[in-house]
Amino acid sequence: MRVCVIGTGYVGLVTGACLAHIGHHVICVDNNEEKVKLMKAGQAPIFEPGLSEIMQSAIQSGNIEFTTDMSAGVTHGEILFIAVGTPPLPTGESDTRYVEAVARGIGAHLNGGYKVIVNKSTVPIGSGDWVRMIVLDGIAERQKVLVAAGGTGSSQAVVEKLPLFDVVSNPEFLREGSAVYDTFNPDRIVLGSNSPKAIAMMKELYAPIVERKFATDPSLPSVPVVVTDLSSAEMIKYAANAFLATKISFINEVANICDRVGADVTQVAKGIGLDSRIGHKFLQAGIGWGGSCFPKDVSALIHTADDYGYEAHLLKAAVSINQRQRSIAIEKLQQVLKILKGKTVGLLGLTFKPDTDDMRDAPALNLIENLNRLGTKVKAYDPIVSQSGLRDGLSGVLVETDPERLADGCDALVLVTDWQQFRHLDYRKMATLMNSPVMIDGRNFLNPQELQLAGFYYVGIGR
Ligand code: NAD
Repeated sequence: MRVCVIGTGYVGLVTGACLAHIGHHVICVDNNEEKVKLMKAGQAPIFEPGLSEIMQSAIQSGNIEFTTDMSAGVTHGEILFIAVGTPPLPTGESDTRYVEAVARGIGAHLNGGYKVIVNKSTVPIGSGDWVRMIVLDGIAERQKVLVAAGGTGSSQAVVEKLPLFDVVSNPEFLREGSAVYDTFNPDRIVLGSNSPKAIAMMKELYAPIVERKFATDPSLPSVPVVVTDLSSAEMIKYAANAFLATKISFINEVANICDRVGADVTQVAKGIGLDSRIGHKFLQAGIGWGGSCFPKDVSALIHTADDYGYEAHLLKAAVSINQRQRSIAIEKLQQVLKILKGKTVGLLGLTFKPDTDDMRDAPALNLIENLNRLGTKVKAYDPIVSQSGLRDGLSGVLVETDPERLADGCDALVLVTDWQQFRHLDYRKMATLMNSPVMIDGRNFLNPQELQLAGFYYVGIGR
């Protein structure tokens, strides 16, 4: 099928490259010229395991192109994905201005044939109808221009050529760090629309993924497809992220109680996670959730509830527990080191989770800011950030190029991101390089006994 993906960030580029990989003809549009130049050369502007490989093979097979030209993409695609960012406004609402600009642009360039416009961006409930309205506005503006130019005959003749389209909500559930894997092995695909024709086209588009033709385990039953109305599909995305964020806040609350009563939250999580109604995932206590999705999506859902006169108590509690959790590493540092002014703290990891280069709303940023405010010198090592230009965008932190240089002269280390390679560092050597070998394990990721044997004073979260 002919596909256009507008916005080539974590979601858009992965979606475009995976759809090209399974045989569709994809044009990816982005208004960032630098990004488009990189992608044309086969380079992914973001770090995502496996992405460069499938991009390069799709370029070679001629199944993918990159452009800044919205008109070329819209003309090409029978399915048009909107995959631009919806960052949070200071009020907590989603900033939908990029979606609006794209919807208007689609309207301005829509041509004769039937098209499906897909909201892949996470957008507030009701946005499907809103996008339809903006696209119609874009079409109307172009009609006015055409009529004014007089080249297409009477306004009636122009209006009769109005393009046909439907809007579908197809929320994305991929996880940064395993986005390509998740796209080929989704737990479900959600399609929201009242148009049977649009749903049929979306099912055709996703058929190879639904039938697990590109899955790691093709013998699994086919991927469930949830077909529903626009608003329910939009709500599914928010509810999923709000549930996961709440689950983490729940275990963090339990961890804080464990700390006080002398229980071990890792044992508690194991014990409750074995209950099939609860499950093990998202029960790792730590220094709080972050990233580009959970904080903004939970805030947006709270805001939507507020708009309808409903106070979302549980979601507000999940957010406030998370805010408190973000300061727990500092509390633990103060318990061990007492005065932080004039001390040096090293952060192991900067990204909001492993296997990504995404720093949006990463707990490390809070930590750096708060430690700086307390007069503490902050150093950091991160497997991705330390090796890339990302380090230049950070302030208040000295980014080191390896873990031993990080340890050198530190009064404590804080493990912020659970990168796999942090399991196997030479902690014995690192301990000898530090002023005082203290490890605050902000993800309960390391083995306390091993760290103690290596010479560290080990402090976990709720254990
Ligand atoms: P991103 O910020 O990484 O990428 C957005 C891209 O859109 C950028 O490349 C930007 O240059 C481009 N863009 C902005 N305005 C444009 C325009 N007018 N025309 C063309 N391109 C334009 O965003 P992301 O992380 O991929 O997220 C996209 C959406 O998907 C958001 O709504 C997000 O909430 C949702 N989502 C993200 C994730 C995730 O893990 N990142 C997961 C699920 C859903």
